[in-house]
Amino acid sequence: MINNEETKLHQVVMDLNTQLYIGGHWVAAIDGGSFDVINPAREELLAKVAAAKPEDVDAAVRAARFQFEEGAWSKMTGVERGRLIYRLAELMERDKERLAMLETLNLGRPLMEPTILDLPMAIDTMRYFAGWADKIEGRTIPTPGYFGQPTLSYTVREPMGVVGAITPWNTPLMIAAWKIAPALAAGCTVVIKPSEEAPLTTLYLAKLIEEAGFPPGVVNVVPGLGEVAGAALARHPGIDKISFTGSPEVGREVMRAAAVGFKRVALELGGKSPQIILADANLEAAIGGAALGLFFNQGQVCAAGTRILVHRSCYDQVLEGLTRAADAIVLGDPLDPKTNMGSLISLKQLERVSGYVDAGVQEGAKLVAGGRRLDEPGYFFRPTIFAQASNDMRISQEEIFGPVGAVMAFDDPEEALKMANGTRYGLAATIWTRDLSRAHQMAARVRAGAVSINGWATIDARLPWGGAKTSGIGRELGWNGIEAVTEEKVITVVL
Ligand code: NAD
Repeated sequence: MINNEETKLHQVVMDLNTQLYIGGHWVAAIDGGSFDVINPAREELLAKVAAAKPEDVDAAVRAARFQFEEGAWSKMTGVERGRLIYRLAELMERDKERLAMLETLNLGRPLMEPTILDLPMAIDTMRYFAGWADKIEGRTIPTPGYFGQPTLSYTVREPMGVVGAITPWNTPLMIAAWKIAPALAAGCTVVIKPSEEAPLTTLYLAKLIEEAGFPPGVVNVVPGLGEVAGAALARHPGIDKISFTGSPEVGREVMRAAAVGFKRVALELGGKSPQIILADANLEAAIGGAALGLFFNQGQVCAAGTRILVHRSCYDQVLEGLTRAADAIVLGDPLDPKTNMGSLISLKQLERVSGYVDAGVQEGAKLVAGGRRLDEPGYFFRPTIFAQASNDMRISQEEIFGPVGAVMAFDDPEEALKMANGTRYGLAATIWTRDLSRAHQMAARVRAGAVSINGWATIDARLPWGGAKTSGIGRELGWNGIEAVTEEKVITVVL
């Protein structure tokens, strides 16, 4: 890489404030502690970020409560809130290249990915919810009356209060936007704890929130370790709603902690999503789409379509196509425009992925592509395909969160449906077919929060997102995103 590009890169990180953002102030953690954030593509230190302690989380919650209950925010109208959120979207648009660069440096992802997906999606989410801020309406509901007297009953939808948001590392800015935008539109305030692996873009977002002119304390950012800062947020009595995205294991802990004070809880958890390729599918499109669903973001996607279920009549052709697609992927420097796969997030993740590859081989699946890391610095793992997999193997049942796919054959659509539903997860599914009637009938019977027909992970700010079974509880995005951070109050007048 040429030198001035290198300098530009460092500048993006150097300009970043890596302290906690509490009540509109950038502050060190109470004990001065920090944690290291690395560039996983180079295995180099990128930044030292303040590590919030429970006392810091408490200060952030108090700042958020003040704004919710009596600060300037509590008096703002929906029109005013909408304008501020819209202004934030404009600032994100202005700085989208820096934000994409930060995401790439922190995650090791090819720069093209946050550029074409995360940034447009995060900005669109802000704009979409800015639009809702002045349209959160109640209803009037006719009743037979009250002991013979007529009544007027109406409802108002009120903000839940202080929202605690806990986010994962795989698409951190986008998921932060999914949680912050609806909360602000509804009039809630927010304390967000980004993942300790990837907190940088959320810190940058705090800088833009400050610049947009939100009253101090409306959004607070408390990076820190999950079991310290995350756990403190989940159990804090001043939090009204916890919105968590991450693994089922931690989600269960968060729910348990939230139960003590009857906090509202939303959980967006993992997935083991099927991609069903029927005999009549456009195979070229299906192979390309299935490969995208497997390898986008190095497979570190909750909706990754990691179980490829293929009708036996086209199994060999699909397997060959996927193997070719895997072998053609250019793995390496995320800043090189020719690269289309970067590194995994951490050594721990790399070890997890290679452990699953070993398990797949031991259980009798046939490794036909990838299966090993690159022999150079950075946590690069070759895109991996297993053939002759069965649905009961660990590689077919457990979320790997890496670029590993299991390709399985079925003989009829009923069998495909059984296999598709045969996991503890239920986040997303894809059906590839030209027979739209069959596609709709199958979509109705897949247990998942979202089914895409002839496309993978067709996510949009206007569409509800969330999972069935172990994939989570609740929905974010769309009108559901507003419902998730508001409570409907009924008022009855005896006339
Ligand atoms: P994780 O569960 O390890 O961590 C998620 C967040 O929880 C992090 O901020 C972490 O610091 C925090 N945390 C850890 N321990 C905690 C505790 N005891 N109390 C409170 N907070 C705690 O998940 P991850 O490895 O960051 O992300 C990967 C997981 O996220 C995968 O399972 C993936 O499928 C899931 N995910 C789901 C969606 C979705 O929309 N359904 C989207 C992205 C990622």
